[in-house]
Amino acid sequence: MKVAIIGGGITGLSALYELSKHPEVDAELFEASQMLGGKIRSYHREDFVVERGADSFLARKPELMALVSELGIEDQLVTNETGQAFILYNEELHPIPKPSSMGIPSSLKPLLSTSLLSTKGKMRASLDLVKPKAKLDEDVAAGQLFRYRFGDEMVDRLLEPLLSGIYAGSLNELSLESTLPQFKALATKHRSLIKASEAIQKKQPTAGTNTGQFRTFKNGLITVIEALEARLDQASIHKDHKLVSIERDGNQHRLSFENGHEEIADAVIMTVPQPVAATTFVEDGLSERLERLRGASVATVALAFRESDVSERADGTGFLVPKGNDTVIKAVTFVDKKWPTAVPDGYVLLRSFVGRPGQEEIVNESDDVIVEQVIKGLSKMLEINGIPLWYDVERWQEAMPTYTVGHKQRVQQWREAVNDTYPYVLLAGASYDGVGLPDCVRQGINATNQIVNQVKNNDKQ
Ligand SMILES: Cc1cc2nc3c(=O)[nH]c(=O)nc-3n(C[C@H](O)[C@H](O)[C@H](O)COP(=O)(O)OP(=O)(O)OC[C@H]3O[C@@H](n4cnc5c(N)ncnc54)[C@H](O)[C@@H]3O)c2cc1C
Repeated sequence: MKVAIIGGGITGLSALYELSKHPEVDAELFEASQMLGGKIRSYHREDFVVERGADSFLARKPELMALVSELGIEDQLVTNETGQAFILYNEELHPIPKPSSMGIPSSLKPLLSTSLLSTKGKMRASLDLVKPKAKLDEDVAAGQLFRYRFGDEMVDRLLEPLLSGIYAGSLNELSLESTLPQFKALATKHRSLIKASEAIQKKQPTAGTNTGQFRTFKNGLITVIEALEARLDQASIHKDHKLVSIERDGNQHRLSFENGHEEIADAVIMTVPQPVAATTFVEDGLSERLERLRGASVATVALAFRESDVSERADGTGFLVPKGNDTVIKAVTFVDKKWPTAVPDGYVLLRSFVGRPGQEEIVNESDDVIVEQVIKGLSKMLEINGIPLWYDVERWQEAMPTYTVGHKQRVQQWREAVNDTYPYVLLAGASYDGVGLPDCVRQGINATNQIVNQVKNNDKQ
């Protein structure tokens, strides 16, 4: 059986790697650009490791850790330093309450002692402990549940800046079941989300310790992509192959690429973003019928300084900026504090995210304008005395899938519609069942298992 995998990001490469364990399947991967990795894009600049896209992954989700161990690159893993992170409010940086889970305090103590909320805001948020269970039979916006339990102040000042960056949308529109499924389950079980957060904390293997929850590699996240590429048969990877269309050809599929290449495959795993996948389905007007998943645009801006040129820095790993503040910056990581191995001694690396939902125009500006705006924003919080040694701006246009209310249902509808016309085309990757890197690996493996089972069933018949 011939399987074509479209897209050479972490999802596509995980699928190809899994399929390489099945000699009965002949799998090949087609990637539009000249590089593998998709939204993983690290490089060395002088003695710095610079991440232009994703910078780390959650260790407690097992799929990527398992892959790392199979690839034999565990010794290159690095764990984040667990300093304090802050939120900007009223031109001051306030520590994010700890212990907490995804920003939700795990007891009353961190909630009552935070400087981020007013007394009234704290009193309202404490009502979470006594308010009746929320009705969650259908999918709702995460913000709807949080506002009901904690009130607006805690959502606007604490939860929105923390969570809207990860899931690329406003909490008022993001799907609870697709972005924070654990909280949906726990809000039903425990009623109070503070109690739910306490339960999550207790379950974590690192509970009570100061061990970081994220991992990357000494030489950047690209290490896992390079290790996968090295392990795979080079002849099965085709870069510079941008898929343009898929047509049925009897029981098979005819794939046409921009460079003129054509390929016939029995099955296809599509790991490109959903709006790209949708345009390639030429059969039965399917492309027109598929609603497009919205993607938010962001830019990442890395600025390197001499340590002596940046002072008055809060002693922590970075900060988040809620909307309503007069800056284009959404979040800043002090890379030298969070990932010390990525920055040489005596230097500071500040990585900012710009572009928030509904205010994404800044991403289209020139590098000079973006850098000027970022330095202006940073200067309000830090004392910057010199000019950056270098900067790096990367734009991610419509690249962060926004899972709005009803996302899971829509994914099912897309899969059914595709399946009706193309029974052997599978959809996997960040547009569907989770955006985190471990979620993408899981989806690559699941798609593989589906194909291998299909081959087994065909052999039985
Ligand atoms: C700025 C940023 C920061 C992030 N930070 C983190 C983080 O720290 N931790 C985390 O877990 N997640 C993070 N994410 C999310 C995570 O990086 C992505 O969800 C994940 O990498 C997506 O992997 P994928 O393989 O599904 O898709 P992609 O990485 O988008 O790969 C798809 C591939 O398909 C190729 N392609 C597109 N069109 C075609 C075509 N027509 N034919 C052939 N190939 C095509 C693309 O070139 C690309 O290589 C971040 C995302 C961004 C944008």
